[in-house]
Amino acid sequence: MAELKVVQVVGTPALEGKYIGEMDQWPLECSEFNRIYPFYDNLRAGRFTTTKCKQCGHIGFPPGVICTQCWSDDLEWVDLPKKAKVVAVTETLAGAPSGFDLPLILAWLNFGEGAPLRHLLTRVINCKEGQLKEGDEVQLVVFEVAAHPMDTKKESKICERVYYAFEPVKN
Ligand SMILES: [Zn+2]
Repeated sequence: MAELKVVQVVGTPALEGKYIGEMDQWPLECSEFNRIYPFYDNLRAGRFTTTKCKQCGHIGFPPGVICTQCWSDDLEWVDLPKKAKVVAVTETLAGAPSGFDLPLILAWLNFGEGAPLRHLLTRVINCKEGQLKEGDEVQLVVFEVAAHPMDTKKESKICERVYYAFEPVKN
């Protein structure tokens, strides 16, 4: 029961404090389990980043540990724009996956000509149903995710987590 007490503190809000690992949709963000953890450290610092292949120059998203074009693992971190224009929007008004508030809004974004990454499909938050339109400007927003308990070889530790979405730019 002592273990349950710990998980009630750190559990995902969607599960009313009862943490069930298999239902957790957020990535593990520590160096022991996730080789792209710098992505999350960068988010905490307000940077939106991905990996660029030093061999062929390919920039992919989400960031990876191997280039999807030439299979090189010689990658570097590059910054992406934090503002984009909406190309298309879809709104889920019922039946969103556990942990997602309604409406669940997804948008296909355009970062503009010359950007390291041209397009991105992403979640848009802080936005009402029917509000977001084609051509609107959105910006990166970083938010906290419920912490994650995990066992490493040496210790049990609590991993603080963040994730990203975009939100409408207020005029
Ligand atoms: Zn490559």
